[in-house]
Amino acid sequence: MSKFRTLDDARLAGKRVLLRLDLNVPMEGGKVTDATRIERVLPTIREIAKKGGKAILLAHFDRPKGKVVPEMSLAQIVSALSAMLGKPIAFGTDCVGPMAQAAVSAMKAGDVLLLENTRFHKGEEDNDPAFARALAANGDLYVNDAFSAAHRAHASTEGLAHLLPSFAGRAMQAELEALEKGLGDPARPLAAIVGGAKVSTKLDLLANLVTKVDLLVIGGGMANTFLAAQGVKVGKSLCEHDLGSTARDILAKAKKAGCRIVLPVDGVVAREFKANAANETVAIDAIPADAMVLDVGPKSVKAVNAAIDEAKTLVWNGPLGAFEIAPFDKATVAAARHAAARTKAGKLVSVAGGGDTVAALNHAGVGDDFTYVSTAGGAFLEWMEGKALPGVAVLRK
Ligand code: ADP
Ligand code: MG
Repeated sequence: MSKFRTLDDARLAGKRVLLRLDLNVPMEGGKVTDATRIERVLPTIREIAKKGGKAILLAHFDRPKGKVVPEMSLAQIVSALSAMLGKPIAFGTDCVGPMAQAAVSAMKAGDVLLLENTRFHKGEEDNDPAFARALAANGDLYVNDAFSAAHRAHASTEGLAHLLPSFAGRAMQAELEALEKGLGDPARPLAAIVGGAKVSTKLDLLANLVTKVDLLVIGGGMANTFLAAQGVKVGKSLCEHDLGSTARDILAKAKKAGCRIVLPVDGVVAREFKANAANETVAIDAIPADAMVLDVGPKSVKAVNAAIDEAKTLVWNGPLGAFEIAPFDKATVAAARHAAARTKAGKLVSVAGGGDTVAALNHAGVGDDFTYVSTAGGAFLEWMEGKALPGVAVLRK
């Protein structure tokens, strides 16, 4: 039983359904270059149409900051969206007011209509009640399928839910159920891998995780900050030396909570940050003064894989090394493949997210082999930080 109201709880037939989606797809030269976000919301649109609802799609595109910016019109994605959906989609040139109302009145049961960029109105990001009411005027029900926008309390992501009966769409539901398995009510032991460039961007995330997980693997550039905080000489490595006491606080908090920390014991070092730079593997207490660690070493990978073997649940954000430049992708690729194999064997529930993390998993060829990979970016990170997401909170039963 879901903790959230879903389409299973909604009566859709004949209803005007305001459906908030994430259609903020990357585009180049008028073409959608990555349609992942569209793919994920097709089932919800189809289900609403099939059950005889009128699907009125609401979305933002880019950052017009409350003004009409023609280059940020959602009109440019109508053809891609309708081709993928396999049915025609009408377009309304405004998301509120007489234009929207006329477009909605013309709909029949099962029709799909896309309304113009919600962020063309300042009231959207302000979560202005008057603007939310103007949106609500065109709907009987509200369905939110945009988890990636749920960390923002905007009119179309949060305000609307207070005005109309509200439900999670199927993509939102899948995301929430996966995240629930990850940190909400996980099978234990629960391990987390946190990597990436900097500690400073992930302080809240680390502080939350050490109180929730049994095992925390720290890799990537941020491991250097933790190592330096314990007196390790990290040479020219990326390192936030001013965060030493913060790092020590996090380690102390982990100890108190009974969370075991796994830090690298060796590293792959180079003198230049570029592909195929001359490199060598060294023990973590033997980093040359003129070199930087760009990946964790093979002994560390063994420890990471052992942590994965121990765990029943794994949550992963942040690559273990500078995976964009070979051969410093090795540890990330090896650990990703190991987690994927454990998942396929039914031994592990694996949940991952983060812009670069998704790219790294795809680079390792295992993007489809994790239990769930979130493409939500900021919303996923706020969830890992243990924050209540306003767009999700309003859908709770
Ligand atoms: P995400 O987008 O998944 O949240 P981050 O943005 O925090 O991940 O981190 C990804 C970046 O961290 C990558 O660009 C990667 O090159 C960088 N990185 C990882 N390890 C190192 C390292 N040892 N030195 C420098 N950069 C690193
Ligand atoms: Mg990133």
